[in-house]
Amino acid sequence: MAAKLIKGTEIREEILEEIEKEVADIKEKHGVVPGLVTILVGENPASISYVTLKIKTAHRLGFHEIQDTLSEDLSEEALLDLIDKYNNDDSIHGILVQLPLPKQIDEKKILNAIDPDKDVDGFHPVNVGRLMIGGDEVKFPPCTPAGIQEMIIRAGVETKGAEVVVVGRSNIVGKPIANMMLQKGVGANSTVTVVHTGTKDLASHCRRADILIVAAGVPGLVKPEWIKPGACVIDVGVNRIGEKISEKTGKKIAILSGDVDFNAAKEIAGSITPVPGGVGPMTITMLMKNTLKSLKLRLGII
Ligand code: NAP
Repeated sequence: MAAKLIKGTEIREEILEEIEKEVADIKEKHGVVPGLVTILVGENPASISYVTLKIKTAHRLGFHEIQDTLSEDLSEEALLDLIDKYNNDDSIHGILVQLPLPKQIDEKKILNAIDPDKDVDGFHPVNVGRLMIGGDEVKFPPCTPAGIQEMIIRAGVETKGAEVVVVGRSNIVGKPIANMMLQKGVGANSTVTVVHTGTKDLASHCRRADILIVAAGVPGLVKPEWIKPGACVIDVGVNRIGEKISEKTGKKIAILSGDVDFNAAKEIAGSITPVPGGVGPMTITMLMKNTLKSLKLRLGII
């Protein structure tokens, strides 16, 4: 295998240890810890497992964590009241509403009701605007793109002047990571191209990429011959392509694949993220980092 593996599982551990130390230090000096509330409405199994993992990670880091689990028929008004309560609670620095929400609740209205200074997911229009401006304006970069950038930095990949091609233009991955990579600053300062279903010749753009970030949700979309030899390939895609029986638990589990033909791509790329174990573990990690940052901003220590 030619490419260096960029392992999200290892980078996650490095970052969580850094956060853990900082939390202990702030607790000793200031007598406070980061507070994170996760709000789950209904019983979507995927949402329950995400929220459980978030709470478990927050707990491990010594955060003050609250999990509010509410019934599927909750009214929009009741959810808005709850958000208002946490917006005004000084022990809470991050508010996370797990999506999707039941159909009687307008997601946009809910996300917009979160205090932008507690919006650790970075989805509030104010934080989207701050991200666009860049520099010191940025408070909470959205977690998956922030994780991608952190992986590129920690893998030692040169970004200044690099040709970055982003496949996908979603509001949660493609657009924000493209915006982050073009800003002046560490882990950025790149020349960015964004491609999507309206792009005429996807392959020719991908072939130019020194850093290829793929977030399309199409298994095997990026062919090995589209990869520039030595490029850094970040595969964000998580696609269920089948099921198998877990050797550990004996239970059925999903077989996951990325958007890149990994086995062939790893022989051409300089570095590459696997799926699973690549970008996936970074998202919750960056959520924790944003929550810690929210507390530090409140304390005026950054
Ligand atoms: P999304 O909202 O469905 O957006 C997909 C984007 O890819 C769209 O902009 C779409 O173009 C583009 N696209 C789709 N098929 C394409 C094709 N054949 N050629 C060119 N462009 C194409 O998806 P998302 O939320 O960004 O997620 C993308 C993938 O990342 C999914 O597999 C998701 O599960 C994964 N993901 C992983 C994490 C994580 O690991 N933590 C987090 C978020 C997402 P148009 O705009 O033209 O339709």
